[in-house]
Amino acid sequence: PSALREIEVEVPTVRWTDIGGLEEVKQQLREAVEWPLKYPDSFRRLGIDPPKGILLYGPPGTGKTLLAKAVATESEANFVSIKGPEVFSKWVGESERAVRELFRKARQVAPSIIFIDEIDALAPMRGLVSTDSGVTERVVSQLLTEIDGLERLEGVVVIAATNRPDIIDPALLRPGRFDRLIYVPPPDEKARLEILKVHTRNMPLAEDVDLLEIAKKTEGYTGADIEVLVREAGLLALRENINIDKVYARHFEEALKKVKPSLTQDIIK
Ligand code: ATP
Repeated sequence: PSALREIEVEVPTVRWTDIGGLEEVKQQLREAVEWPLKYPDSFRRLGIDPPKGILLYGPPGTGKTLLAKAVATESEANFVSIKGPEVFSKWVGESERAVRELFRKARQVAPSIIFIDEIDALAPMRGLVSTDSGVTERVVSQLLTEIDGLERLEGVVVIAATNRPDIIDPALLRPGRFDRLIYVPPPDEKARLEILKVHTRNMPLAEDVDLLEIAKKTEGYTGADIEVLVREAGLLALRENINIDKVYARHFEEALKKVKPSLTQDIIK
């Protein structure tokens, strides 16, 4: 299979309003990505260099992919993405070509956002018995070449995501590369309430459902966990009565027992 065919351009539909909480992160992405893509001339006029690369880091399931897609939608940009581990598994023997292809595609469809999820998979496997015969190094080096070759304000911005910023190759974090680091935190109570509102938008809730109460009870739950929780409550309601027309507090109570938080105390604090 050729890398050429497998890298697809996506027109995402995620909006800022589909993301609960994370207001500061959204604002940072607006200024660092949306404005330069939409108003490059204003940045040139004032001599401001926007970032070429942005690294979103934080625990799994907190909305990093969602944020990258939303900033693409809101910037009216195309979205070209790849997952770190895929670079090695899907394009065996042509991993570097996949990286080249990714950037070529992105330029072709600019304004565009390149999203590299799980970029830590491209971390050098120091100290490990290396089974990869230098392919990781060659891929990182190709990635550096491509990022260095991007002109600021040419309409391509690279966003990467990781839960392991500590193992990222430091060469990727130098100025002119991923030089903007943005932490995507686990949701606090207020953010959990917002996420609950997003995911129950199309769900008829009985009067006894108190979302604030659920937000209080879901410390340690990520956005992804909350999505699962809401779906579970809905399914429990249907299981009780397939003709039921609302989801009740008891279904959420039951769902809370089944769906457990994925974050531990040390990550939250
Ligand atoms: P990973 O590190 O596992 O890739 P991630 O941080 O990229 O995780 P997403 O893939 O963006 O997380 O989130 C997974 C799902 O969880 C989303 O599709 C969404 O339904 C839900 N979700 C996560 N965070 C939020 C949020 N802040 N608001 C609404 N939904 C969220």
